[in-house]
This record gives sequence, C-alpha cells and structure tokens, in this order.
Amino acid sequence: MDEQREQDMLDQARQRMLRNDLRGRDITDPRVLRVMMEVPREAFVPEGYRHQAYADGPLPIGAGQTISQPYIVALMTQLLRLDPECEVLEIGTGSGYQTAILARLAARVCTIEKYDELSSQAQDVLRKQAIENVRFRVGDGSAGWPEPQSFDRIILTAAAPSLPAPLVAQLAERGVLVAPVGGGSSQTLVVAEKYRGKLIERVVCGCRFVRLIGMHGFHQ
Ligand code: SAH
Repeated sequence: MDEQREQDMLDQARQRMLRNDLRGRDITDPRVLRVMMEVPREAFVPEGYRHQAYADGPLPIGAGQTISQPYIVALMTQLLRLDPECEVLEIGTGSGYQTAILARLAARVCTIEKYDELSSQAQDVLRKQAIENVRFRVGDGSAGWPEPQSFDRIILTAAAPSLPAPLVAQLAERGVLVAPVGGGSSQTLVVAEKYRGKLIERVVCGCRFVRLIGMHGFHQ
C-alpha cells in the first residue's frame, strides 16, 4: 500500500474512533476530543501494529507493556479537567501517547517511566511531533518526582494497590489525581481531589491496567 493511501486510511480510522468510541460514549469535553483528533496514535505504536492503531483496545509497545485503549486515555484526560496553566505529573510514560495528549492541554508534563527503552522511544516520538513541554525521567514513579515540587494534576497509567503516599504528598491543594487502583482483574478508576489537605475520592468505573511496580506500588 502506498504511503498516501495508508495515511488516508489512518485518518479515517481516527475519525471513526472519535465518533464511535469517544463521542459515542461519554467523552464530551471538546478540548479532549480535539487533541484526540490531532495526535496521531499510529506514531506511538510499533510499526507492525500501525493498521490497528485506532482499534478500541490496548496494544503491545515492548518490555511487556501496553499502550492504553484510546477510550481510557480520553476518559482519564477528561477526568483531569486540565487547563493551560496546569503542571502535570504522569507515572508510566509507556509509548508517550497519553503524555502527548496531556502536553497539548497543559503548561508542562513531568513523566516517569520504569523502563529506559520505553522512555527513550517516547522521547523520540514526542520530539518528532514537536512537543517540547515535557520532562522525562527513568525510575520508580511510585516514589514521586525526584525534585521537590507540587503538581496541579497527577495521573497514573499503571495500577497501584492503593494511592502511593509520595504522590498524594506532591498533589497541590485543589489538585486532581486520576489512577487505577487495585490488583489483578478487579481494579477501579479513582478520581481524587485534594481539599484542605485531605483527599476526596470517587470511583468512576472498573478498568484493567498493567501493574505499577515499585516501592509504593506492587513489589513484582
Ligand atoms: N500511558 C501509557 C501506558 C503504558 S502502560 C501508554 O498509553 O502508552 C504503563 C506503564 O507504566 C508501562 O510502560 C510500565 O513500564 C510503567 N510503569 C510500571 N511501574 C512503574 C513505576 N513504578 N514507575 C514508572 N513507570 C512504571
């Protein structure tokens, strides 16, 4: 297939995803829909999976990890209620797709990935997409960003047994944290807001993510 034809098919698949899997469900925030239309998911999946880039499911990205399903990416982004001033912390860079979506809607994203190989790949892709407001780190994100800083928004893209204390500590007053919580097959997507130093939590839905492996996550 020639390149132009492949690109046309991917553009059509992206429009279909928007209509059926996002707008057709409960994704209503126009800014989230706009960036999901603009960021090419095919750039973040391995070459052999490009044609499946807009299927409504996760795909392998190497190191035994997966790029999250587009609907979940959109839902978590919508739940974060981002504004252009937000400083965001993301745990689990993975392919960098969620990172790119966040970076388009916030002032800056600090992102931590456990595997060097995935972080390097994500850095390459984001550079090619001319996204420059992202700081990358390789390490254990369950322990928080290594420099003292507070964040308006925090997102975990791997499931934790409970909300990691260092991340709760780095969440600013009135900040919002979105995370999958729980083990095995029974995780829930949690939204927490910090109000007068305390967290107010709400469960949104059931979900399925890879595990957050680290000091304040799962041990293996
Ligand atoms: N948002 C990513 C999701 C990747 S899956 C995407 O859509 O591509 C979750 C990622 O979390 C994996 O890349 C995994 O390696 C990473 N991860 C797991 N435990 C971690 C930890 N303690 N610190 C940082 N990253 C972690």
